[in-house]
Amino acid sequence: MNSYVIAVDQGTTSSRAILFDRQGHIVTKAQYPITQHYPKPGWVEHDAMEILSTELLAIQEVFEKSGLGSGDIAAIGITNQRETTVVWDKATGKPVCNAIVWQCRRTADTCERLTKDGLADRILQSTGLLIDPYFSGTKLKWILDQDPSLRDRARRGELLFGNVDSWLIWNLTGGEVHVTDYSNASRTMLFDIDNLRWDEELCKILDVPVEMLPEPVPSSMVYGRISSRIQGLSALAGTPIAGSVGDQPAALFGQGCFQPGQAKNTYGTGCFTLLNTGSQSVRSHQGLLTSVAWSLNGKVSYALEGSAFNAGSAIQWLRDACQLIPAAHECDIQAETLRHNDGVYFVPAFTGLGAPYWDVDARGSFFGLTRGSGKAHMCRAVLESIAYEVTDLVAAMDRETETDILELRVDGGACVSDFMMQFQSDLLKIPVIRPVMVETTAAGAAYLAGLATGVWSGTEELAKLQETDRVFDPNMLEKKRSDLLSNWHAAVELSRQWGRMTKNTQE
Ligand code: ADP
Repeated sequence: MNSYVIAVDQGTTSSRAILFDRQGHIVTKAQYPITQHYPKPGWVEHDAMEILSTELLAIQEVFEKSGLGSGDIAAIGITNQRETTVVWDKATGKPVCNAIVWQCRRTADTCERLTKDGLADRILQSTGLLIDPYFSGTKLKWILDQDPSLRDRARRGELLFGNVDSWLIWNLTGGEVHVTDYSNASRTMLFDIDNLRWDEELCKILDVPVEMLPEPVPSSMVYGRISSRIQGLSALAGTPIAGSVGDQPAALFGQGCFQPGQAKNTYGTGCFTLLNTGSQSVRSHQGLLTSVAWSLNGKVSYALEGSAFNAGSAIQWLRDACQLIPAAHECDIQAETLRHNDGVYFVPAFTGLGAPYWDVDARGSFFGLTRGSGKAHMCRAVLESIAYEVTDLVAAMDRETETDILELRVDGGACVSDFMMQFQSDLLKIPVIRPVMVETTAAGAAYLAGLATGVWSGTEELAKLQETDRVFDPNMLEKKRSDLLSNWHAAVELSRQWGRMTKNTQE
């Protein structure tokens, strides 16, 4: 039976493909790095042709390594770095310039202008987003502003826009299908998330021709089939592309957070917390973002999202910049040598603070050092700081939705830290659940594609595939917990004050 699914996972640093079987287990994986281009400070670009060629190689390799036949693959599901912006020529298939990556800050001035023009509330109400260069809308405007002929060509339907999902689907189908799923569309700052259509007034404000935008579609359906013209993939010709979802909601789905009130956090370089809010698209007043998480069987699920810019990166900083530890896992070992933090706190505000503070001026800080403080204290304070950040995000979500989050599912490179996971559970006073299979992003894409093609019957069946590695239950006295949290909040406030007071003298 054709019961295998290939997840195409196109990330910021690499193009990957992962083959899943019907039990949700990984059969084979392939991965190719992609080049990062930094043409100016704060600018980040990728070569869209390299994104495509590396992804095609990964798909080919994963299929060949598996030893399966062409009829064994039921579907392909796509998950991708969100917001990264590609514009290409419909006739030649060539991008008109490098892709502008989500991290790129080149449109900060445009965003400032939109804010000054009083559009923040208009944009929040329609798109669920804050005005920020992060999202694709101003990036697309920037590309079209470089050469007036591009905008004219876009109006005539000669140029197409897409995020990486659209770019891959268009190419894999031999240029036949130009779509984007609602979760990716939600991150353009051009999409009306309640009515599930492009916001034409916002497109006008940003001078983006709607003719070039992909058709917004649900996250689980057959969009098209692998074209027989793609070199290296002839064995997969005709395989349906049946799922597409941005990376963070893919992880939410892959973690089995199918019901409203379920949440996950990914502990990577930064942290991304997502809460499934079901059919309700909540608007945040604390700097959380609202997006479509996915649309399945005609039902749209929304998510509230909060992110902290620096999390695992602080552990890397201890290792690489400070050379305090030889490897990330040593951080845990050091932290465990202490029975208490001994009053030492760290705020990982290297690049300011994300939700719920949104403070670009705050700076990284240690507090409470004494002559007795050493490496172990610093390691412990760094691990604890990551858990505090996530606690703030979850607390903001609790306040916005007035529903209690009953457990937190975790993934990402730093979730292997038992010390941090236990501390996280103690702070949140809820169980923290770490799955066996931490490739949740790819799993989410595979699940959505498999649901559309009958590999799995529904989310009830998928829920049964979830295997838990470990559950961390809360085990801390309330007095200790509230003292720790209040000291953390004092530390955050001081790191923000420091940023404000020294802003003009930091050079
Ligand atoms: P990203 O996808 O953002 O690149 P990953 O999910 O791969 O991130 O996670 C990488 C992060 O995980 C790194 O910042 C690293 O510091 C952290 N990490 C890796 N191993 C450990 C460990 N054993 N203990 C704590 N943190 C770890």
